[in-house]
Amino acid sequence: FIGLSNQNRKVKTLTLIYKGHLLMLLTALRYSHQLLKEIVNEGDHVIDATMGNGNDTLFLAELVGTTGQVYAFDIQEQALQNTRDKISDYSERTTLYLAGHETIEEKISADQPIKAAIFNLGYLPKSDKQIVTLPETTKQAMTAILKRLTIGGRMIIVIYYGHEGGEAEKNEVLHYCRALPQEKFSVLNYQFINQKNNPPILLCVEAISH
Ligand code: SAM
Repeated sequence: FIGLSNQNRKVKTLTLIYKGHLLMLLTALRYSHQLLKEIVNEGDHVIDATMGNGNDTLFLAELVGTTGQVYAFDIQEQALQNTRDKISDYSERTTLYLAGHETIEEKISADQPIKAAIFNLGYLPKSDKQIVTLPETTKQAMTAILKRLTIGGRMIIVIYYGHEGGEAEKNEVLHYCRALPQEKFSVLNYQFINQKNNPPILLCVEAISH
């Protein structure tokens, strides 16, 4: 596969070429970035609820510019170290918390509008597979984010569920999102349904009215 940059209005999408054919369907990871890029602008405040190695924190820091702010959460010191290295050029526009995303309610003012948030559920790749996100705290964090999400704002949840406990978390998160009132939120479910080994599920919750 060869990465190719393709200008599509304001959204730059990565497409793939395989044996001369242009493949346009994006992986869950790439699609999550496209969904963020479409709406996050200079000056916005956004949340990376599962910092991990800091890939999404970095991506968001580039989108919010010098006047925006990224709040990033993780419970592992290693995640903060990895992320700090990655975003060293953007330290003034990022706030890294060594704390679970269930503390969003106390850490981020209720008056602070949030334009976007992203979760990557599961464990940190190449790290301790026992340290995983959990349904109850994930739901607490989603509730705190949805209270602050601006109209047109998006909360994206990429669910990896192949690990122990992952299936239960997937079901609870799907149940939570399905129950969101449709007059307030649109909820999208994106997944390759013919792939082996638990292909990730991407959910995108877009706020449409208060
Ligand atoms: N987005 C990350 C990246 O770009 O590398 C990958 C995230 S990884 C799939 C999931 C992360 O969630 C792990 O780093 C794990 O420590 C973290 N995590 C687990 N429970 C958490 C919680 N309650 N609050 C915040 N992060 C948590």
